[in-house]
Amino acid sequence: MDFLHTPENQIIVGVAVALVAVGVAAFYLYSSKKHPKGLLNPENFREFKLVKRDQLSHNVAKFKFALPTPTSVLGLPIGQHISCRGKDSQGEEVIKPYTPTTLDSDVGYFELVIKMYPQGRMSHHFRELRVGDYLAVRGPKGRFKYQPGEVRAYGMLAGGSGITPMFQVARAILENPKDRTNVHLIYANVTYEDILLKEELDGLATNYPNRFMIYYVLNQPPEVWDGGVGFVSKEMIETHCPAPAQDVKILRCGPPPMNKAMAAHLDALGYAPEMQFQF
Ligand SMILES: Cc1cc2nc3c(=O)[nH]c(=O)nc-3n(C[C@H](O)[C@H](O)[C@H](O)COP(=O)(O)OP(=O)(O)OC[C@H]3O[C@@H](n4cnc5c(N)ncnc54)[C@H](O)[C@@H]3O)c2cc1C
Repeated sequence: MDFLHTPENQIIVGVAVALVAVGVAAFYLYSSKKHPKGLLNPENFREFKLVKRDQLSHNVAKFKFALPTPTSVLGLPIGQHISCRGKDSQGEEVIKPYTPTTLDSDVGYFELVIKMYPQGRMSHHFRELRVGDYLAVRGPKGRFKYQPGEVRAYGMLAGGSGITPMFQVARAILENPKDRTNVHLIYANVTYEDILLKEELDGLATNYPNRFMIYYVLNQPPEVWDGGVGFVSKEMIETHCPAPAQDVKILRCGPPPMNKAMAAHLDALGYAPEMQFQF
């Protein structure tokens, strides 16, 4: 290696090696940003640390879980959910589905908004969960596949905590500048205080006034109320959702009796089975 005997040549080789190393590092950084690797496994549970808990009302809290690094993404396809494992008040294992309200564009963490029912089995687990505790999660799960621009418009019929998959899909559509799909949401609750993610939903309606329309329905409305009253009716769907068409899809997610009633309304209004989807 006579070439390396002069100091000038040693410097040239040193600089060349350093440039190659920087190039390789930049390539890996670029590829990992362009194709971030998800952390979920559909078969095995993985534990995530609770780093923040915000009580939003007497029975609703937002839970923020840290991902392993500040640039990690959960890797959950739009419209899919995760299974969370916990223990009920009797110490029995319980596994239930939940939809994060965050997207993979929110790096380093994911959030769940959870409504806790007094007798609910998994509700007990979330009620007891404290900052520093770990939650076991596996996924992705779900049949819903979202393709940008697949339909002209979505109608969404949500009840109570059934808003979380709708919120996730709506955010993904509206925040994608290449996606022109319109979203028409009807969101039903018992009282005004029960409405989840209200600030976030109203924010979407303000930021995307021609693409995101929301109609709130309450069983027990306050004295001053300009939304719907009672249960979601056929007439409300007719007025606030896109009419049946091949490039329209109506999504529903609510308590079982609501889902059943909504399916009957949609059938009666002429939405073919392929125009309907239940989370
Ligand atoms: C795809 C999908 C995504 C979901 N995402 C979320 C989410 O992001 N956040 C969230 O809070 N929940 C979500 N849920 C609901 C969640 O999976 C549980 O059903 C809910 O947390 C109640 O579970 P539990 O074990 O505490 O109650 P359970 O032990 O199953 O129920 C006990 C009692 O609680 C009451 N109860 C339970 N569920 C309801 C309900 N829906 N409406 C009215 N009363 C009820 C009833 O009185 C019931 O008898 C989602 C469900 C699905 C299918």
